[in-house]
Amino acid sequence: MKDTDTPREPGFRDSVDLMFNRAVALMDLSPGLEQKIRVCNATYIVRFGVRLRGHIHTFTGYRSVHSEHLEPVKGGIRYAPEVNQDEVEALAALMTYKCALVEVPFGGSKGGLCIDPREWDEHELEAITRRFAYELAKRDLIHPSQNVPAPDMGTSEREMAWMADQYARMNTTDINARACVTGKPLNSGGIAGRVEATGRGVQYALREFFRHPEDVRRAGLSGGLDGKRVILQGFGNVGYHAAKFLSEEDGCRIVGIIERDGALMSETGLNVQNVRDWIGKHGGVTGCPEGRHVDDGARVLEEECDILIPAALEGVINLTNAERILAPLIIEAANGPVTAAADDILRGKGTVIIPDLYANAGGVTVSYFEWVKNLSHIRFGRMQRRAEEAHHLLLIEELERLSADKRLGWELSPDFKTRYLRGAGELELVRSGLDDTMRTAYQSMRERWHGQENVTDLRIAAFTVAIERVASSYRAKGL
Ligand code: NAD
Repeated sequence: MKDTDTPREPGFRDSVDLMFNRAVALMDLSPGLEQKIRVCNATYIVRFGVRLRGHIHTFTGYRSVHSEHLEPVKGGIRYAPEVNQDEVEALAALMTYKCALVEVPFGGSKGGLCIDPREWDEHELEAITRRFAYELAKRDLIHPSQNVPAPDMGTSEREMAWMADQYARMNTTDINARACVTGKPLNSGGIAGRVEATGRGVQYALREFFRHPEDVRRAGLSGGLDGKRVILQGFGNVGYHAAKFLSEEDGCRIVGIIERDGALMSETGLNVQNVRDWIGKHGGVTGCPEGRHVDDGARVLEEECDILIPAALEGVINLTNAERILAPLIIEAANGPVTAAADDILRGKGTVIIPDLYANAGGVTVSYFEWVKNLSHIRFGRMQRRAEEAHHLLLIEELERLSADKRLGWELSPDFKTRYLRGAGELELVRSGLDDTMRTAYQSMRERWHGQENVTDLRIAAFTVAIERVASSYRAKGL
């Protein structure tokens, strides 16, 4: 083999482009339009100083706008020491395709700040976040109708509340100020079900996959989710919630949890809540009495299981380990966990990959609901809930009257009345909207996967559906 034939590990941005190229090769787009969709429109880099601990510290932040075919553009803000332009642009591109795939009316964006949040106290983080938000808002890179951030790795509803408040202070007469970011706490304009939305979306995605025996067979699996052995990497917001719902509600066995400082393994299944509580107190899995500890956490990605859920960071399945990955089904809860080169190897082995742009779209879907709620200034379900209950009551009363007639010989089951009477509140509506979104998007991918001869995997199916929608949006604008 010549040196030039040795497979090269592409960077994250290149990986996304390579996946994009594979998809557009199967489509009939003009080269000009193809290029317009591929490129990142703009990246703003800001360096700002904050006086902390008696010194001025300089921080570097990014906000990339990949595509403005629809506005506002949408995407999380990540706090991590290794944040860089390449990463932020790759993530912004994924946001464009993700929003198109799940049909939320946003363009794609992403932001990041080079910082290790664990090194700073809460009040220091607040000062840094407010200053970063100020820099972005000044340029409409935080704005209800232009650019709407959300939480990502290293940020949570706390940072979103600070950003929303900073924007509101700078725009005192903007009645829609709260819609400038999503993922806020409930008491600051958030929506029920947002915190866990991405993990919930992963669960709904897997449920939908397992509703199709033909797809399950392609992964060499059978049956439903019940009893499936799962290994997860990253036990933060997304990983924890996915593990919690899959184990508590679908009967999955969490046999491995990988964190920064190692992994925990147990063939009989780990107690998700105990692990979470331990990490909350001790900052890692070291010393946790659940299961057995493995020092080299990344090795656990290569252990046998039915479903592998990378839910931490990008590029963790790459040329160095792809051959050794045994899981027949991978669901990408993180963004970009499988590099384009590893994707080739895994496809060659027959591994089924449920791609990131679909798998972790639960977050942006519920963010969309939150944005709509903020713009309409009313909680979902507030108008309908009691009317719905009154309607249900009519039916219950009629059934109770009939069941009182012993000659009919039937009676209502004990908790039917309470369960049926309950009208849908915000949380139920959010879950229903998310479930519907995840089912519909999966079906649009699988139609391609099974219906178009040269579409051989779910990732390319997802990309072609998404790119087609972005292209038709540009065409409608006359481009
Ligand atoms: P988080 O910060 O809450 O959690 C990340 C977890 O991964 C942490 O527990 C961290 O300790 C762990 N981790 C970091 N490096 C690791 C390593 N090398 N090995 C093992 N574990 C490691 O972040 P999150 O919000 O859960 O995001 C995780 C992934 O999901 C990211 O790729 C993010 O882009 C993606 N995502 C998040 C959302 C969301 O709503 N939060 C939405 C879509 C996609």
